[in-house]
Amino acid sequence: MLDYEVSVVPSPANGTITGDERITLASLRDGLTEASFTGNALDVIAVGGDAASTEKRDGAWIVRFNRPVARGERAVLALRFMGKPARGLVIGTDHIHTDYFACDWMICTQDRPGDKATLSLTITVPEGLRALSSGRFVRGYPGSWTWRLDRPTSSYLYGFAAGRFAFSEQKVGAAVLANYAEEDVASADDLAAALADTPAMIRFFQDRAGLPLPGGGYQQLVVAGSAAQESADYSTLGWDGLSPVLKDPTEDWLAAHELAHQWWGNLVTCASWDDFWLNEGITTFMVAAWKEKRWGRAAYDREMTLLRARVDKARAAGVDAPLTFHGPYPSLGLKRAIVYGKGALFMDALRREMGEARFWAGLKRYTRIYAGGAADSRDFQRAMQAEADKPLGPLFDEWVY
Ligand SMILES: [Zn+2]
Repeated sequence: MLDYEVSVVPSPANGTITGDERITLASLRDGLTEASFTGNALDVIAVGGDAASTEKRDGAWIVRFNRPVARGERAVLALRFMGKPARGLVIGTDHIHTDYFACDWMICTQDRPGDKATLSLTITVPEGLRALSSGRFVRGYPGSWTWRLDRPTSSYLYGFAAGRFAFSEQKVGAAVLANYAEEDVASADDLAAALADTPAMIRFFQDRAGLPLPGGGYQQLVVAGSAAQESADYSTLGWDGLSPVLKDPTEDWLAAHELAHQWWGNLVTCASWDDFWLNEGITTFMVAAWKEKRWGRAAYDREMTLLRARVDKARAAGVDAPLTFHGPYPSLGLKRAIVYGKGALFMDALRREMGEARFWAGLKRYTRIYAGGAADSRDFQRAMQAEADKPLGPLFDEWVY
């Protein structure tokens, strides 16, 4: 996919959504007659361009073309959709925010994270709400907002929110950091205290990535509950996960984790979900690295001890797997123990094997080479190997493959 142009109108009264969408794609082979998108609970019809009809097949949305499309040639699919999203959208009377499953409120390819595209998104919501989304703000009329995301991005990272949010903004170097919070979720003082370290986190991750904040800005949306979700250019942070930092300042993992994804996950994305550990294992490790920077080596060691306990618990339950394992796990918790926990422990093992300077140079090389694109475990291995002074193959074989 090359570009999605989407206009949605959520209906807070009944939790439904209607939308118009234009998808631009380039064919990878000759004679392409249809394209497949992630299935959802919406009704989807073809309304023009090269789209002739739609069909639900094996749970996926198939859009048939009105002509065969040659290799390298572009097609534009105009679609209209309506219905009640099964997931991915939290709608209240004066609050709405997306939650991971963009494929449930628009037509896209959530199951192919390496297939990145640009996005124009327009949302129409009740007047008087404040709104945020991925990309650069283009224009806003009362109740209607448009953003443009010019950097090709995986569609699972598309999102938006609107509500009667408290708002604050500051500069962090050349970047703009904006905070939004649902009304009544916390006092202004508590919010400020809970998010006080984000500028320092931005500086730290920029330094380790060797690249500035992608897009030049970052927004934190604080909502009630346990949300923890990165999107392009912003994150949704649940107060349940954020507020422990008020009692213990070292409990700052949530803001750090979702911010780190702006580089590892969002900017450099796993080419397929088989390499999801590249998103989550590296990010989990980077939270520990942030804690080391902010709170000292003991805080890093404590993270590794906690992660090791998580992985040991999974092993005791009979679950261990290479990081690239794509088979079924008995539960999401056990899968996360491997993908997040074991992935972060592998980064720590690499760090010890390579030594401090070479390890960080390798991570920087990897991040810079694949910035804006997608990578798999072999890509990551090549980048790290290029900075190492000994073969890393045995360590990758043991942990990754
Ligand atoms: Zn994550």
